[in-house]
Amino acid sequence: AKEQGRNRYSIFSNDLSVLLHQQRNIASRLRVSLENNEFTLLYQPQVDLRSGNIISCEALLRWTPEITEHSVPPDIFIPIAERTDLIISIGSWVMEKACEQARAWRNIGIEICIHINVSGRELEQDGFFERLARCREKYALPPEAIGLELTENMLIKSDEQVLLGLQKQRAMGVEVSIDDFGTGYSSLSYLKRFPVSHLKIDRSFLENAPESDYDGALMEAIVHLGHKLNLKIVVEGIETQTQLTYCQRLGAECAQGYLFAKPLAASVIQKRLECQQ
Ligand code: C2E
Ligand code: CA
Ligand code: CA
Ligand code: CA
Repeated sequence: AKEQGRNRYSIFSNDLSVLLHQQRNIASRLRVSLENNEFTLLYQPQVDLRSGNIISCEALLRWTPEITEHSVPPDIFIPIAERTDLIISIGSWVMEKACEQARAWRNIGIEICIHINVSGRELEQDGFFERLARCREKYALPPEAIGLELTENMLIKSDEQVLLGLQKQRAMGVEVSIDDFGTGYSSLSYLKRFPVSHLKIDRSFLENAPESDYDGALMEAIVHLGHKLNLKIVVEGIETQTQLTYCQRLGAECAQGYLFAKPLAASVIQKRLECQQ
C-alpha cells in the first residue's frame, strides 16, 4: 500500500490542487510542531579568515515532524510559513532559542555572536525590535550577542520605521548582515542607505569565482565596494581549499562553509569552541 501511495504521489505531484493540499498540510503540521517541540536549531561556524578562529555562528532551523524520519529542509517550509502568520511564531521561537543558547554559552565563557535569519514579515510586524530587546533582557545578553541576517529585497521594501529600528540596533552594537548579497534586485546605490554592518556574498558567486573571470570580477567588486562603505565581508559556501585561498586573497574578513563545518548541533560546536579558547 505504501508503494502504491508513492506512485500516486509522483503521478499527481505536479497537479496544482495536490500542491495546494500539501501546502495546507505542511502549514497545519507546522502549527502542531510548534507545540510539540519538533524544531531544532543547528549552528554553523563563521570563521575569521586571518586567525582561523570561529568568531560567530549562524543559527539554521531544522524541522523534523514526528511522522517523518528526516528533517524537512527550510527552503521547503519557510516559504510556506512566510505565506501565513506562522513565520511570526516560528521566528519568535528561533529568537528565544538562540538567546537561551547564547546565555548558556556565556555562562561557560563562550562569547560568540549568534546570527539569526529574520523574515520580511517578522521585521515588518510591529514590535519586532521590542521583542528582541525583551528577549536579550530576559537572558541578560549584551546587544552584540545576537546578530540579524536580512535580505536586500527586505531592506529595499522596508519603511522608515524599520530602517530607524535597525539604525538603533546598529548604534547599540548589534551586527546586521545583508544575506545572499548580489542575488536581489537592488541597485548598489541603495547600499549606503541601509543600516548594516556585514555583507554576506551569496554562494552562487563563489561557486565559479576562482575559474570564471566574470564571477571573479563581481566578487572583487563587491568586496571593494563593501570595504569602501565600511562593511565587513562574509563569504558563504566555502567548500574547497582553493576557494578559501581565493577569499583570503580578496581580503574578505570572514567565511562560512562546509570546508570548516556543516551546520552543527549546539553540543558539537560547543566542543570546538571550548578547544579554541
Ligand atoms: P541562508 O540563510 O542563505 O543559509 C545558508 C544555507 O547554506 C544553509 O542552508 C546552509 O546549510 C547552507 N550552506 C552553508 N555552507 C554551505 C556550503 O559550503 N555548501 C553548500 N552547498 N551549502 C552551504 P539551510 O540550512 O538548508 O537553510 C536554507 C535557508 O533557509 C537559509 O538560507 C535561510 O534563508 C532559511 N532559513 C534557515 N533557518 C531559518 C530561520 O531560522 N528563519 C528564517 N526566516 N529562515 C531560515
Ligand atoms: Ca542566512
Ligand atoms: Ca545566505
Ligand atoms: Ca540563501
